[in-house]
Amino acid sequence: MKKMKPESLMMTHGYVPEWSENAVKCPIYQTSTFVFPTAEAGKRFFALAYGKTDPQEGENPGLIYSRLNNPNLQILEERLSLWEDAEDAAVFESGMSAISTIFLTFLKPGDRLLISNPVYGGTHHFVHNYLQSIGVHVEHFTAETDLVNLTEELCKDKRGAEIKLIYAETPANPTNAVIDLKLLGEMKIALMKSHDTDVRMAIDNTYLGPIWQKPLDWGADMSCYSATKFLSGHSDLIAGAITGSQESILAIKTLRTFLGNMASPNTCWLLTRSLETLSIRMERQASNALHVVRFLQDHSRVSRVYFPGLSSQGTEQVSIQNRQSTKAGAMISFDVIGGEAIAFRVLNKLTLIKLAVSLGSNESLAQHPYHMTHADMPELEKEDLNLTDSMIRLSVGIEDSEDLISDLKQAMEGL
Ligand SMILES: *Cc1c(COP(=O)(O)O)cnc(C)c1O
Repeated sequence: MKKMKPESLMMTHGYVPEWSENAVKCPIYQTSTFVFPTAEAGKRFFALAYGKTDPQEGENPGLIYSRLNNPNLQILEERLSLWEDAEDAAVFESGMSAISTIFLTFLKPGDRLLISNPVYGGTHHFVHNYLQSIGVHVEHFTAETDLVNLTEELCKDKRGAEIKLIYAETPANPTNAVIDLKLLGEMKIALMKSHDTDVRMAIDNTYLGPIWQKPLDWGADMSCYSATKFLSGHSDLIAGAITGSQESILAIKTLRTFLGNMASPNTCWLLTRSLETLSIRMERQASNALHVVRFLQDHSRVSRVYFPGLSSQGTEQVSIQNRQSTKAGAMISFDVIGGEAIAFRVLNKLTLIKLAVSLGSNESLAQHPYHMTHADMPELEKEDLNLTDSMIRLSVGIEDSEDLISDLKQAMEGL
């Protein structure tokens, strides 16, 4: 039979109604531990869980204890893998715990992390306040960096031999600058060949994935997510996720078992429910965003709109965007003429669109990156990225697009 699309499998895959009184939906397995049928079975389950032995063909590792495995966690991970055709997935209690677990799994003191700039504030903080303090070297690149040149340089230089992880976030928050995933994948292969080392590549795919951008297709070992955002899509939970190769996810899950930062049965259940509508939500958000972008581009008090694929992002940026993503997403930034005072006036006058950080939810949100999400970033760095106090960031939801535009219109009246 033809392989079915994730949209068709998201409601039923991985769950057998007979497990739970024929309930059509998977219940919440709110339990810390599981009864072993026999002592021998318990011995076998532990041997499998700790990788002391390989499972036989078709053998399922038995359920032991909810820090190691739980049906809600496993069903969610199986379904999440489908979107990117990933070998496996791991779900966490926050995006930051997913991201920090990647760093802690693949970086040791003396190793080098090659990371894009800007990245999410929490990621930036963890890298500079924790990883550097334990002796991990950190090197940055931006959307402007010539990645072909950098690859050549790192293949010759001994610092290239220290690189164990290439990490990027694209499109970048809040400027929507995109980073070339194809060139990053080529860099990874080139570094592995020239220095005979193991290099991993992980991409924070929160903004476009897993529907519109699939980093695993470009050579990434892992795609990671703040599942709090589009994957959840209802602003009612905090969670994180990583999809990727069997080998990378096994290493990740091994550390997760001992950090104990897996998602709870309740969080997993909510996310499983959210995944059922992921595709229709994101499609609607993206089409709404296009209407809002057109309105903003035509507004006399808007000096620039930052949105992937717009010619104002630059021709190189547009071609990268078109190659690696199928849609531009639902995150828009724009500059209003008049700086902080005018930007604040607009934010304070919005009614349907709520003034809050976070993104990707079914309700639209607006915020002021300069003084909110990016308050921590040095002013010079912000200037370098065009991130000024004139900028407003919008996360577009599933409302009626005309109502969204009316709200923006009235908030910008008389500027
Ligand atoms: C929100 C966010 C994170 C952090 O995720 P939490 O779920 O808040 O821990 C990481 N990366 C990006 C791009 C985000 O937007």
